[in-house]
Amino acid sequence: MRTLVFLFGDQLCRDISALSGFDPASDVVAMAEVDEETRYVPHHKQKIAFVLSAMRHFAEALAAESIAVDYRRLDDPAPAACLTAALEAAIARHRPDRIVVTEPGEWRVLALVQTWPQRFGLPVEIRGDDRFFCTRRDFAAWAAGRKDYRMEFFYRAMRRRTGLLMEGEAPAGGRWNFDAENRRPLPPGLRPPERRRFAPDATTRAVLDLVERRFGDHFGDLEPFGWAVTRDDALAALEHFIAEVLPGFGDHQDAMKSGAPFLFHAVLSPYLNVGLLGAREVCARAEAAWRTGAAPLNAVEGFVRQVLGWREYVRGLYWLMMPDYAASNRLGATRPLPGFYWSGETPMRCLAEAIADTRRHGYSHHIQRLMVTGNFALLTGVAPAEIEAWYLAVYVDAFEWVELPNVHGMAIFADGGLMASKPYAASGAYIDRMSDYCGGCRYDPAVKTGPRACPFNLLYWHFLAEHRPVLGGNPRLAMPYRTLDRMSPGRRATITREAVAFLEALERPAEPGLFG
Ligand code: SF4
Repeated sequence: MRTLVFLFGDQLCRDISALSGFDPASDVVAMAEVDEETRYVPHHKQKIAFVLSAMRHFAEALAAESIAVDYRRLDDPAPAACLTAALEAAIARHRPDRIVVTEPGEWRVLALVQTWPQRFGLPVEIRGDDRFFCTRRDFAAWAAGRKDYRMEFFYRAMRRRTGLLMEGEAPAGGRWNFDAENRRPLPPGLRPPERRRFAPDATTRAVLDLVERRFGDHFGDLEPFGWAVTRDDALAALEHFIAEVLPGFGDHQDAMKSGAPFLFHAVLSPYLNVGLLGAREVCARAEAAWRTGAAPLNAVEGFVRQVLGWREYVRGLYWLMMPDYAASNRLGATRPLPGFYWSGETPMRCLAEAIADTRRHGYSHHIQRLMVTGNFALLTGVAPAEIEAWYLAVYVDAFEWVELPNVHGMAIFADGGLMASKPYAASGAYIDRMSDYCGGCRYDPAVKTGPRACPFNLLYWHFLAEHRPVLGGNPRLAMPYRTLDRMSPGRRATITREAVAFLEALERPAEPGLFG
């Protein structure tokens, strides 16, 4: 029996379930760079280059093991227009008896794969993706009967189940969560570690030329390109993180600094999300660093919580709730995405810096994504589909299963609180406390109304007032609502008038004084 294993571009690991039982004497692997997948949102140029180069290197590594790989490139004379066309051509060439895939990461692609048996008249075996700690079925069992799905309880269950950072039945250090110690602003003069970068080889250089030719109009700078695109280089990035960065990962996790997008963040998510690194190995390395005294517990617990907790949780939620989840819009947000999310041209320095980092690196860290670009989209009521398409396009690590719940549930509260117990709305004071952005801004975070008022201040109070019918009973918002209620009617009227003027100006970007 001849098997054709079809691998998707985010399944670049040798122990992917689809390759289990592979017989090099008879079987073949098919991989394809597909035009539709590179364009369904206008992906950042570095993101396209990263995925295509990692795919080409992975195909080369398989071929070096004498595995037959049918690889279609975008610059072939007749490139594949879509995944189904790519498979159809591979079937015509290899005449397999069956198709084997590992379940794809996106609901959209799984729905497509499920049409393949009928379309091709061949059995299609869809294997589970065992790169994750938690299967879709296990997550559904955990979620059954719950009214809301708080990550913290899922995370504790996963710690118990895996034994990671456990001492018998108890969490290491006597606490599940060291988050309260991970919110320190950066002390002046603290220099974050240099990032490990990887010079493009000939394969990557060919991909960079291809991306410049075909996707030159997409968002973002293509170079300098320093991502790892092989398993060996991704492992080197992991070792660099463990040795140089992890010890400081915890303390300043929520801090932001102009021109320093990486700070003490791992920046391993692109490698995890395409399969160059595994979730189990990165957690094991971090835990070993704590057990040998090379990194403190608050840093290691914070990192493990991101990988074992958040990452698994958002994937479970994605598969549990899709496709209906994406259609929810509890706050009735309908505003178009402001044009400056693409251009970066705004006098609000926090946004300009976060978008400049995104443009240059295809990366900004989680607090920039949640509390700057996400917070602004929440406060201004950007339509969920618009802001979600932006996040999916602009980050090298963005794949829908991880991007959509993070944006939809966490950043913009479109699910009405299924994920988060309150919206992550914040005024300028938060951004000022956690960053150095405000010092160089046209606006002043201490000013609440008038031409110098930080827009986040106006928008924050306007947001709470507007959404009182939905949010007013939320106990975690009781204090800000009490503050709002203590304001004089005149002050509230001024906030409303100025916030409305600002929101109207958002759709007229040339408006002088407000948004020019
Ligand atoms: Fe952002 Fe307001 Fe600070 Fe300017 S003053 S950087 S708009 S938070």
